[in-house]
Amino acid sequence: RAKGAEMPGKDCVKVAVRVRPFNKRERDAGGRCIISMASSIITIQDPRNSQSPRSFCFDYAYWSHSGFTRDCSGLYVPEEPGGRYADQGSVFQDLGEGILENALQGYNATLLAYGQTGSGKSYSMVGYGPNKGLVPTLCDKLFQAIRANQDSRQCQVFFSMLEIYNEQVVDLLSRGSRSPGGLRVREEQQRGFYVEALRRVPCDSAPQVEQLMEQGTRMRTTATTHMNANSSRSHMLIILQLKQIFSEESITKQSNINLVDLAGSERQRVSGSEADRLKEGTAINLSLTTLGNVISALADVAVGKKVVHIPYRDSVLTKLLQSALGGNSRTVMIAALSPADICYEESISTLRYAERAK
Ligand code: ADP
Repeated sequence: RAKGAEMPGKDCVKVAVRVRPFNKRERDAGGRCIISMASSIITIQDPRNSQSPRSFCFDYAYWSHSGFTRDCSGLYVPEEPGGRYADQGSVFQDLGEGILENALQGYNATLLAYGQTGSGKSYSMVGYGPNKGLVPTLCDKLFQAIRANQDSRQCQVFFSMLEIYNEQVVDLLSRGSRSPGGLRVREEQQRGFYVEALRRVPCDSAPQVEQLMEQGTRMRTTATTHMNANSSRSHMLIILQLKQIFSEESITKQSNINLVDLAGSERQRVSGSEADRLKEGTAINLSLTTLGNVISALADVAVGKKVVHIPYRDSVLTKLLQSALGGNSRTVMIAALSPADICYEESISTLRYAERAK
């Protein structure tokens, strides 16, 4: 498969798997690496059954640049790592660059991070400190491109950030929006689904976007604490809207880039008799299941299979992503994985989920 900025449409769902380094808990538990890679084929070993490795083929598979240093016991370092070490920059080159190119051409795009809590979704999407993730790098490059193209077009960028929790939408940039039941999702013929009264902030620099992201992230934490929840249980959606006016040809192109940090995919365990937890678990599963069904249907469309129905309407998340999933849009999914044996169940379920997108 060619990478970069080929036309979207056919073959528009790209899937990358990224394995993070061992964390302290896994190391302390004497964790073993159960993942191996050969090019973009990733193999996972059931720690209780040495007979049954399972292999999956994706568009990209990455080890983490900063991980897998050999310790004295050697336990958690694969002998022959195979595959590819990728830092934030190379992940952006593979996955972010194409999205940016497409957006500049006027197409929509969706970038999704899927995986269990603690598997590296935020690291890939947002990053930590100097290890900037896909979103800030995309913004940097977007504003660079806008400056470089100033002569031919006039550009406007709008930034929105929201959270979907229990099928309810919370605006992460607006203090007043914590209305009971959340913001309303409406549908218009031309526009498709949208969130009523969602704040759209005009932006003209990457630092401005980063500041808004920080503000939104703080709000996400308080909002979920307020609801007696944990932010790993909500989906976070950033919408970057790019409007380009080419005055010579008198055309306007508008594209949406959706950047989604999905709720942790771990099976929602019901603690005690908490009905809320159960409802929440069902809502998370509903969005993730629906998203899986939609992407899988789109992948079928891309290979020419006949698909009768794409169930966009079954969850708030897929409603909001509808105009940027399928059609001429580019969809990229990063599946984030722990390398450790103790995460086997969650990791294989992540790989299975990601496989459905192909
Ligand atoms: P999630 O968003 O899935 O809950 P995080 O992105 O917060 O998980 O990652 C959990 C921890 O693992 C963080 O401390 C993060 O810095 C680290 N981490 C995740 N992915 C990587 C990676 N690819 N390289 C280095 N550290 C990583």
